[in-house]
Amino acid sequence: MVAFSGFLPERNFVMPGRMRCVHCETDVLLESITRLEPYHYCGHRYFARTSG
Ligand SMILES: [Zn+2]
Repeated sequence: MVAFSGFLPERNFVMPGRMRCVHCETDVLLESITRLEPYHYCGHRYFARTSG
């Protein structure tokens, strides 16, 4: 488990689907309900949900 400190509360779970990093615009596919963490390689924490 990665220790988290940042903008998002610890219990910020996101529903499955495609998200996009608003920083580097990399698409991330979430296959299950996931706790959103700054796991992305760019370290950015903001993700936007994308359709399709
Ligand atoms: Zn990114």
